[in-house]
Amino acid sequence: MTENLKIFTDRLKEGEEELIELTLPGAFLGIEEEDLLTLNPIVIQGKAYCVDPILMISLQVSTQVSIPCSICNQLTPVNLDHSDISFSIPLEDISSTIFDYSEMLREELVMMIPQFVECSSGNCPHRAVLNQYVKKDLPPPDNFPFAEL
Ligand SMILES: [Zn+2]
Repeated sequence: MTENLKIFTDRLKEGEEELIELTLPGAFLGIEEEDLLTLNPIVIQGKAYCVDPILMISLQVSTQVSIPCSICNQLTPVNLDHSDISFSIPLEDISSTIFDYSEMLREELVMMIPQFVECSSGNCPHRAVLNQYVKKDLPPPDNFPFAEL
């Protein structure tokens, strides 16, 4: 699956650019909770090139994930578009002529996923209900248990 996420550095030595155009399955992110997060294919475009002695990988990523609304739990689509993921790796750190950047990319993508999402463009209809609930939970001042001590 990650076979395409490799750069053959010996092909880049003469100032060549390698164009990257990939569509990865959402499962690439390795997120197990499938009911919590549905993943669409991840579209990746970019290029790799060497600025001796550094390997540069510059990528644009676009995908959509569905995350449960933090208030009502309804799955809410969130677009992830990131245009400036870039990696620079000293060539001397690459032990062979093949550099696999799949793990780097995976970590970067996982960090792009927001922790909190609210449905209906940030106006979850349950927010009002939740607010009411919170107010009801506060004990009225008359019922303060130590009031009669
Ligand atoms: Zn909601």
